[in-house]
Amino acid sequence: MRLIRRRSQRRKLFLLMSLALLFGLLWAIKSQSAPNKLLYGAQQTPDESATPAVPSDTAPLVIVLDAGHGGHDPGADGASGKYEKNFTLALTEKVYQLLLKEPEFKPYMTRTDDTFIELEDRAAIANSQQADAFLSIHGNTFTSDTSVSGTETYYYELGSAKLAQAMQQAIVKATGFRDRGIKQEDWKVLRYSEVPAALLEVGFLTNAREEAFLLGEKGQNQIAQAIVDGLKNYFQSK
Ligand SMILES: [Zn+2]
Repeated sequence: MRLIRRRSQRRKLFLLMSLALLFGLLWAIKSQSAPNKLLYGAQQTPDESATPAVPSDTAPLVIVLDAGHGGHDPGADGASGKYEKNFTLALTEKVYQLLLKEPEFKPYMTRTDDTFIELEDRAAIANSQQADAFLSIHGNTFTSDTSVSGTETYYYELGSAKLAQAMQQAIVKATGFRDRGIKQEDWKVLRYSEVPAALLEVGFLTNAREEAFLLGEKGQNQIAQAIVDGLKNYFQSK
């Protein structure tokens, strides 16, 4: 008798635990879908920018980020005398951190400190990771005329023009810098890349006004977000 009661108590306990688990699961599913509803808003209809570039059940898109220059190669001297290599690393780290938060992306950095990596080795990292996109991040220089300004994006293979265009558009939109367009150029870091690749000349470090934006925390956050947006736009339009 006691045994039977104990068994039925266990059964009840098991049933209660199962119900609790079921409710827990339902609550988890509901709370996961809630932010999407909020994101779309009451009047707005879902648009492409609100949907992830790829469904979450597929493999993440591999993005290799290359902070230009480093180590014995400082890159450009900015208007304030600051080096390009530090700007590129700071901005690239911000892009990396933003991409880490996006489940559809898997980011890598070619360098995470002040070291120099050969240009072909930077491309080789992107190749070995079979990257879906390879971005080399730079700041521009034109010492003979410090009023020269604007954003330009380079590509080498024709197949990378769409990536360059998406990045160019997103950066110009975020910075308000002059749109110098996309350009095909035989840069080593691009030529050695076997994956879609673009070199971003975000703005001119030799232009004092642009340098202030490029080196500022607020400006860098805006540019980093623009690079993430550009990547999303690129993969959505593919
Ligand atoms: Zn550079």
